[in-house]
Amino acid sequence: MSPKFHAPMPDRVTTTIAMPANATLGILGGGQLGRMLAMAAARLGYKTIILDPDSAAPAAQVANQHIIAGFDDPAALADLAKACSRITLEFENVPVGCIEWLESRLPVYPSSRSLANTQDRLTEKRFINSAGIATAPFFEISDLSSLGSALSMINGNGILKTRRMGYDGKGQMFIASPQEAANAFKALGEKDLIVEGLVDFTCEISVVAARGVSGEFAAHDPAMNFHEGGILRRSTVPAPLDGSLLAQAVVATRHIADALEHVGVLAVEFFVVADTHLLVNEIAPRVHNSGHWTEAVCPVSQFEQHVRAVCGLPLGSTARTADCIMENLVGEDVQKVPALLGEDNLMLHLYGKSEVRPGRKMGHFTRIIPAA
Ligand code: AMP
Repeated sequence: MSPKFHAPMPDRVTTTIAMPANATLGILGGGQLGRMLAMAAARLGYKTIILDPDSAAPAAQVANQHIIAGFDDPAALADLAKACSRITLEFENVPVGCIEWLESRLPVYPSSRSLANTQDRLTEKRFINSAGIATAPFFEISDLSSLGSALSMINGNGILKTRRMGYDGKGQMFIASPQEAANAFKALGEKDLIVEGLVDFTCEISVVAARGVSGEFAAHDPAMNFHEGGILRRSTVPAPLDGSLLAQAVVATRHIADALEHVGVLAVEFFVVADTHLLVNEIAPRVHNSGHWTEAVCPVSQFEQHVRAVCGLPLGSTARTADCIMENLVGEDVQKVPALLGEDNLMLHLYGKSEVRPGRKMGHFTRIIPAA
């Protein structure tokens, strides 16, 4: 029978028992993150089924099965629940009601709690502050006059963002004047917005870490990230910052993971201000672009770590065997591939996307820096 999302949900099904080899892991979302998760799951002996509406989803090329349907398609979710032992996701914007329906039937990691607290920038920032961790100043914006009042409290400058579905710099605009405020308010849909104060950061870092089904925690080394036009271009590891600041970032990440009761990998992005303190920018309750370097220089990558966490296997070592720099291949950057293939100490990863579009992530590479 088809699920009815408005019906009261029975309790969440959870388990601390390891998923047996040859069992099937369902993955909601079929982009490059789902693709790399499916590859890691296969290495651990698991089968995967991808649910994604795109018939050309990159993850489908490497998974055992692809259910081509929307995340809120009741029949598709029922098929997925029947065929899988456990469900995970690579995309945090799956409707929470769909996750709740699935988790009333089988273990789903991360849970609806992680998603409900991270899908909406306003809820997310309130959640981070309630956990005692600082963010940029932010204000809920319901109309143009609330935007005017908010801007007057943050020196007239800010970033207006949609509360939901923003990624890679989409759904956000810088504002430095009343005219720009009016234009941005209109362009972003006039509702469900948040404005943030502009942070004068020295750099951005992220921590990619995993929390297991029994609360165990392991973090990969923090990366320093460079963005252009809101899109991550490069991650450098180790981040060239004071060790105690990096340790603080890891502690804050653990605190957030515990507060979410998160299971799986999550990434926390931070602004580093004046090289001395941290503000959390956002949480991604999933594997993250700034953790792609882990596949090149760590025995257990973020992808394997996520599969281990959600399948109830022991978390792996996050030790790093070399310094490295990961770069994204965005749009026409993919033309660099022949030259990259000729380089020593370089690991290339292409996502199998046939259509090159500006701003589209086509792949990435990691330059491994040999020890001197
Ligand atoms: P987001 O999608 O919110 O992670 O924003 C993408 C990028 O925009 C960030 O990585 C920053 O480089 C920049 N950005 C976002 N919010 C702010 C802010 N409040 N102050 C300064 N830069 C920001």
